[in-house]
Amino acid sequence: MTCREATEALTESVEAGLSRAQRWRLDRHLFSCISCAAYRQTYEMTITLERVAFAPPGDGEALPDSLVASILSRRRLAVPLATVK
Ligand SMILES: [Zn+2]
Repeated sequence: MTCREATEALTESVEAGLSRAQRWRLDRHLFSCISCAAYRQTYEMTITLERVAFAPPGDGEALPDSLVASILSRRRLAVPLATVK
């Protein structure tokens, strides 16, 4: 599976689901490709944020702990803009 096929399969997995064989091929690619694994994490984070952002007011759904932890860990790794020249 190529990286392009993997990103298409990720989209398809959310929209329509994947067959067992397609899921196996995708998982195998994600295991060996750090770029696509990072893309999947970002993709899933975006879907979660979208779900929370567009939830009806007063729904009371809190951000998942894993999402908060992921955002905070990336924030700690970020370079402050004032140090970029
Ligand atoms: Zn890849």
